[in-house]
Amino acid sequence: MTKTRRQMAEDLKFVDLVAELLDARIPRSSRNPDIDELVGGKPRLIVLNRADQADPTGTARWAAWFRSQGHAVLETDAKSGKGVAQFSGVIRETLKEKLAAWNEKGQVGRPIRAMVVGIPNVGKSTFINKVARRKSAKAGDRPGVTRGKQWVAVDSGLDLLDTPGILWPRFEDEQTGLHLAYTGAVKDDIMDTETLACHLMEELAQSYPDALIQRYKLDLPPRTGEEVGLEYGYALLERAARKRGFLKPGNETDTERMGRILLDEFRAGKLGTFTLEEPDEQ
Ligand code: GDP
Repeated sequence: MTKTRRQMAEDLKFVDLVAELLDARIPRSSRNPDIDELVGGKPRLIVLNRADQADPTGTARWAAWFRSQGHAVLETDAKSGKGVAQFSGVIRETLKEKLAAWNEKGQVGRPIRAMVVGIPNVGKSTFINKVARRKSAKAGDRPGVTRGKQWVAVDSGLDLLDTPGILWPRFEDEQTGLHLAYTGAVKDDIMDTETLACHLMEELAQSYPDALIQRYKLDLPPRTGEEVGLEYGYALLERAARKRGFLKPGNETDTERMGRILLDEFRAGKLGTFTLEEPDEQ
């Protein structure tokens, strides 16, 4: 067991609920593959973060899907703080039976303890800061709060562990790796930028053609069917480079430069909002 995993297992002992942060653009790829095993039976809140960067209809489909799997769901934009105010209420609702049981046992006012987990760059630190309203006051000196752990008081009934659990992303297949790379969850060095951009072009041409047409004034050529995706993506990259006037000596298109720009603009939200994955059918 790795050190991070051991630490998380240790932290989990102290919490009543786990808030699993996902990137709303790629809810499947941004999930840790071992999360169910790690968290065990603890109640879980799925936080679809980066909702501002995701396609709202896609986020709604994912929210419904996670609810159908028995999880509570919250949609947030941790950067602006949108949705964050509901955190405490949703948790209380999720744990209402537990709270009632505590009350019956006379543990009135016992705060709920929660922790945030997620893969790197999903927005964990930003989320914790927003939820805690950047309060510097730690909850650690309250009676009954475990020593050695730092908690932030979200409100009088909810404490949040101030260090998130950092999970490793999955690399089960090529598409997952690509999605993590487009969104900036992993460094670009899984492949060269130009190839990555060809894949992104191809994928956007399939699921969000209008975004490409508008941003790069592209007329999308019909796909011949025999073409492999990468070749099609490259052809689009060339067209976009030509439209932008990115040419090298000899009138050759500078697809490398165009590729970098596509990735930058995609990440900066200049092409619009995207959900690159759909929930499983059943
Ligand atoms: P962590 O590695 O999971 O702790 O991620 P951070 O909290 O450090 O966030 C990584 C970057 O993403 C920062 O630049 C944040 O401002 C940004 N970020 C976090 N949440 C959101 C969000 O919901 N929307 C947008 N647009 N950016 C976000």
